[in-house]
Amino acid sequence: MADTYLFQGNPKHYDMDTYLATHPYIYWRCPNYKDKVQIGDKAILWRAGKDAGMIAIGEIVEAPTPASSIKFPELLGQRFWTSDEIDLNDIKVGIVISEVRLTNGEHLITREHFKLDSVVSKHRIITNPTGTVFEIEDTVAKLMFAAWNNSCDFDTDDPAPSKDTDSEGKYSYVLHKRRERSSALRKAKVKHFLTTNDFIHCELCRVNLNDKYPNSLSEGYIEVHHIKPISTLKEHTPTHIDDLILLCPNCHRMVHRTKDAEKNLEELKKWFVDE
Ligand SMILES: [Zn+2]
Ligand SMILES: [Zn+2]
Repeated sequence: MADTYLFQGNPKHYDMDTYLATHPYIYWRCPNYKDKVQIGDKAILWRAGKDAGMIAIGEIVEAPTPASSIKFPELLGQRFWTSDEIDLNDIKVGIVISEVRLTNGEHLITREHFKLDSVVSKHRIITNPTGTVFEIEDTVAKLMFAAWNNSCDFDTDDPAPSKDTDSEGKYSYVLHKRRERSSALRKAKVKHFLTTNDFIHCELCRVNLNDKYPNSLSEGYIEVHHIKPISTLKEHTPTHIDDLILLCPNCHRMVHRTKDAEKNLEELKKWFVDE
């Protein structure tokens, strides 16, 4: 049976939020348990510090290996470290991330939540959380995954494209939304957008939601759309800021009105230029 390991990161030394938000395939340091961690084991990603908690789940796809001989060195995420030295002797595990939740709004499971659980609260990740990799016994793992699954957000108000859906279309839409939903990614894109624009607006119809709705509701609201169709991306491809476009909810829905979002986006771009 698959074992579970918890991988901890400290946001003081490492921008793990952005790394996790942009990389569906990541590497994590694995200085201990390196002879035990195996392909197929489950991974819990844990943020240390003042917003501590379980922020992502995934599966081990590369057993512990020196950084010099991993499969995808370009995915090491070295630029997310505050120091940029690479130690090629560092032992790394490859993890495919299946879900990331960075904020309370996305239903991450906080350290405070687990402190109230009579079993999980006795685990070292709560009582003495020093270290990078923690072995999670089955009983504790079950409780942690149950907490994660119980507070998921089923996106009930967010139907898949309605005009021509088949199961494949639905599946790629789910993957697409997963890439777009990350708050860290949205923040990074908005920040980048504001270096050349004075205010946030839809890049198609140019609406400023602040002009249309009470600012108490609309302030800072905008959606991000990933331009490249998921089907053309390898599963491990990181997201780049230039792959993202800011859209108001109406334009975003129109883009996803049919399965061919790329074509719809082109049509809408022309439409708004000619208007
Ligand atoms: Zn728009
Ligand atoms: Zn989209």
